[in-house]
Amino acid sequence: MAHRAGPHFLQIPGPSNVPGRILRAIERPTIDHRGPEFQALAKEVLEKIKPIFKTKNPVIIFPASGTGAWEAALVNTLSPGDKVLMVETGQFSTLWVELATRIGLKPEVIEGDWRRGVDPAEVEARLSKDKGHEIKAVCCVHNETSTGVTSRIPEVRKAIDAAGHPALFMVDTISGLASADLRHDEWGIDVTISGSQKGLMLPPGISFNAVSDKALEASKSSKMTKSYWEWSSQIGQNPTGNFPYTPNTNLLYGLNEACDMLMDEGLENVFARHERHAEATRRAVRQWGLEIQCEDTREYSPVLTGVVMPEGHDADAVRKVILDKFDMSLGAGLGKVKGRMFRIGHLGDFNDLMLCGTLSGCEMGLRMAGVPIQTGGVQAALDYLSGNA
Ligand code: PLP
Repeated sequence: MAHRAGPHFLQIPGPSNVPGRILRAIERPTIDHRGPEFQALAKEVLEKIKPIFKTKNPVIIFPASGTGAWEAALVNTLSPGDKVLMVETGQFSTLWVELATRIGLKPEVIEGDWRRGVDPAEVEARLSKDKGHEIKAVCCVHNETSTGVTSRIPEVRKAIDAAGHPALFMVDTISGLASADLRHDEWGIDVTISGSQKGLMLPPGISFNAVSDKALEASKSSKMTKSYWEWSSQIGQNPTGNFPYTPNTNLLYGLNEACDMLMDEGLENVFARHERHAEATRRAVRQWGLEIQCEDTREYSPVLTGVVMPEGHDADAVRKVILDKFDMSLGAGLGKVKGRMFRIGHLGDFNDLMLCGTLSGCEMGLRMAGVPIQTGGVQAALDYLSGNA
């Protein structure tokens, strides 16, 4: 590929831009993962990650992508043939259902139109009908990366409680963590699943299970086949700064740095920054006269915005123009919304001027691709960001 001047704009909703501070931390030499220097690092990181999940309980770190942590959550707590209530909010929740089916669970799926998050009332209704408590877990995606819809997790927790149901509550916040508020302990989540390559600003390659006492208790009677994902071998070795197999040492250097950066900025400030960029983006999209994929204003994602194409226009053609002309990658529509929408990522190590560049690229690209938009979207965002809206 010919050299292109200036930075590439990586505006997909993860992997997100990796800041220089993290890249420099990662490039340090790999060390003996059974030696004292590593053990000190591991102990430090295993403590520092807890406040990011807002938990006092263990957070298990796997050298795997988010999909591995999905599987780990299920195989550690459940038994073959168990029923799980899973809510279809988009492509990622759909893939999680497929995974659960493949490993021998029986998902009961609440279908959705991909424009809304989990409906707590529907969860309560399904659980209330399950008098024999055959459903062993409720699985929801916090931030649906395929649509830009964020589910109201505390309300889902209330729905489970209102039904008086003992099911475990599992939440995928692979693209929500460290961008949108998530409180593992306070919200009564049993397993929180996340990954490195989104709000944590790291490259892909590590993923997490934050676990409640109830989930740990369930793991003692779980009968799913597992070895690599076994929580007990992690929890047994982690207190001494060890892992049951070779850890992703360099990404742990990066994670240590990422936790420091997030705490320096302050998690609440990080969330407010994401909300502000999301609002500026939505103002631009509305000014263009385009629709936002998320239909419920309570469920707007602070991480990304899904932009719906007018009838007869292909989102992938727009993305191609923007990549070719402006060297910016935007997220494609996935699964059943392929070509119907594109996704603007505004997460991670991201600031006002990066957002202005991103929206400028979108506005120019939409026009060059012949999509009938009104101009002034970037101006609407600038007015909002400068406090002159
Ligand atoms: N869940 C969500 C919400 C995601 O956004 C992703 C990936 O983008 C996954 C699960 C799958 O994670 P991975 O691709 O890291 O395996």
